[in-house]
Amino acid sequence: MLGDTAPFRIAGNLYFVGTHAKSCHVLATSRGLIMIDSGGIDTVDAILSSLDTLGFSPKDVKIILLSHGHPDHAGGAARLREISGAEVYLAEEDLKYVGESRLGFRFVPDHFLLDGDEIALGDTVVSCLATPGHTEGTFSFFFDLIENGMTYRAGMFGGSGVNQLKKPYMNRPDRRVSYLMRGAFFRSLDRLEEEHVDIMVGNHVWQNDQDEKYKKLFTAPENPFIDPTEWMKYIARTREAMWKIIREEEKTEFVNYAHRGASEKCPENTMMAFYAAAALGATGIETDVQLSKDGVPVLFHDDTLLRVTGEEGKIGDYTLAELKQFKVKKDGAVDRIATLEEFLAAFAWRDMTFAIELRDDGAEEMVADLIYRYGVDCKCVVTSFVLDRLRRIRAIAPELRTGWLKKDFSEEDIEAMQASGVDEVCPRAVNVTPERVEEWHSLGFNVRAWGVTDDDLMRAAVNAGADGMTVNFPDRLAALLRE
Ligand SMILES: [Zn+2]
Repeated sequence: MLGDTAPFRIAGNLYFVGTHAKSCHVLATSRGLIMIDSGGIDTVDAILSSLDTLGFSPKDVKIILLSHGHPDHAGGAARLREISGAEVYLAEEDLKYVGESRLGFRFVPDHFLLDGDEIALGDTVVSCLATPGHTEGTFSFFFDLIENGMTYRAGMFGGSGVNQLKKPYMNRPDRRVSYLMRGAFFRSLDRLEEEHVDIMVGNHVWQNDQDEKYKKLFTAPENPFIDPTEWMKYIARTREAMWKIIREEEKTEFVNYAHRGASEKCPENTMMAFYAAAALGATGIETDVQLSKDGVPVLFHDDTLLRVTGEEGKIGDYTLAELKQFKVKKDGAVDRIATLEEFLAAFAWRDMTFAIELRDDGAEEMVADLIYRYGVDCKCVVTSFVLDRLRRIRAIAPELRTGWLKKDFSEEDIEAMQASGVDEVCPRAVNVTPERVEEWHSLGFNVRAWGVTDDDLMRAAVNAGADGMTVNFPDRLAALLRE
């Protein structure tokens, strides 16, 4: 599809020189061209011909900025560098993509992009913002364009596609994308929202309705590319698209939550129990949070230390350093009390869901903060038997999912949940029937069963259509789900 889109000036010194399928832009500065993305290996000729149409020479290209390493953005870079002698910039994190030889290119950029870089050529400066998610090293670019004497801020979101954050892609053996990327993507959207953009530059033509604008460009009284509302709308749409994927997964995947880790075999709520849970086929981990005397969220269920550690008193009586001296035992296995942060640091990257139960008041803000800091907000549900704790979580972090633990749910309980915006109904497994699950689902709630003591109850709750279950024996549940 050579030359399927005519090259043209968008605004100021910014030109489109790509094709319909693969975008490429140049900024004509006082000292040569800055190229943004290079198209693919198959569009190099089209780009060269577009440059020629606009009166530029390939030798004018001094800098090539790559938004990310996918072949439709970086594939032409090696050849274009050869022809122009330009210096190529790409984030180090995306080397793994351009290193692929299958598409006929394999190269190392001249410079690694760093967050906050200001790349200048002549009279033009491009601000580079690390916005990982679509790939590990996706960068977004911002620069000023002067149109009819007015200065406008232009911005390109370097990678807004969410397909790379779907499980089948992330789990591909040749990809193995960390689940941290989803959290990183949401943080990137937060950062991009901070930017003011008057002219949205697409890194695919459909992102900014380029075709429609192009049609109006020569007839409309105002440059149709100038639209200060478009950027925010696009980011909101992208955020919604990502949440849609996550919600779809929730609907179709049954979560096998290891209750306090694999607590049948290991000391409960310890790192040993969590690692065992993952090894035994759990797809979720349930744990409990209380605050130590010095205010650190630690993972512990009981109100007193006695049953689990043999010590006197309760978690809040001791500092973390003191709690770390205690032993958590189970059938000869011994581990230490873990903190929420230790758990998240070790497990955040995994394809697992976390149910974090608030066991006392006052930990809400710290728990929400850690969840965001470790980027697990999109695969986490905060639970409690106390509805007020969930309300406080919702007030601090409205996007976090919450689940109310209760033996059973009356109509009033359900109304209270709706009024508080709680997402998940968590009843005892004995109270989970197909009719009730259907009713709760019809109201938009997720259903997770707990208190599963034997295999019959486990089977009944799965067959009733629950979305997940907390068990001490994730291996047995995993075996049942494989049947
Ligand atoms: Zn891409």
